[in-house]
Amino acid sequence: MNKQQKNGSRGIEWCTHTWNPISGCQHQCRWQMPDGNIAICYAEAVANGVAKDAYPHGFEHHYYNPERIAEPRKLKRPARIFIDSMSDLFGAWVPEQQIKSILSICAQCDWHTFLVLTKNAPRLLKFADQCPDNLQAAYRCRPTLCWASRCPAISKNLCCAARFKSLIPCRVT
Ligand code: SF4
Repeated sequence: MNKQQKNGSRGIEWCTHTWNPISGCQHQCRWQMPDGNIAICYAEAVANGVAKDAYPHGFEHHYYNPERIAEPRKLKRPARIFIDSMSDLFGAWVPEQQIKSILSICAQCDWHTFLVLTKNAPRLLKFADQCPDNLQAAYRCRPTLCWASRCPAISKNLCCAARFKSLIPCRVT
């Protein structure tokens, strides 16, 4: 689990920690910049750069990190924990049992608030009844809109008001 720096130059502003019990992502997000260059997401750039040793099979490989599963339990003070900054918990490639294990830890650690972003809303909805109240999930709509819902309201109200927006950092290839 990584504590986010709040010095204004690094870190994610809307969480206190990131937690990556799984990592690697197969969405291959790409953005065309106004100058025509193609940008990739920051996570992919990190996995192919400074964190290369942790991604021996590349960023698109799915990594399950069971040694990290219990990390939120060790954090006794309430925190805002972003799940899977280096993946998509509800990606089609993530085994169901792994998702259930992670959601179970979220439910057990009810003194924390967990946040998760996905680009696969249909799979998020399949787990809506297993999402605890202390989980906030956001779906990135195309092209730029992002809305969030506190579970289990996700299953009932996909059009709820936005709770937060996340601007994805990216790097030009
Ligand atoms: S932006 Fe998120 S969903 Fe897209 S490739 Fe990067 S980690 Fe995966």
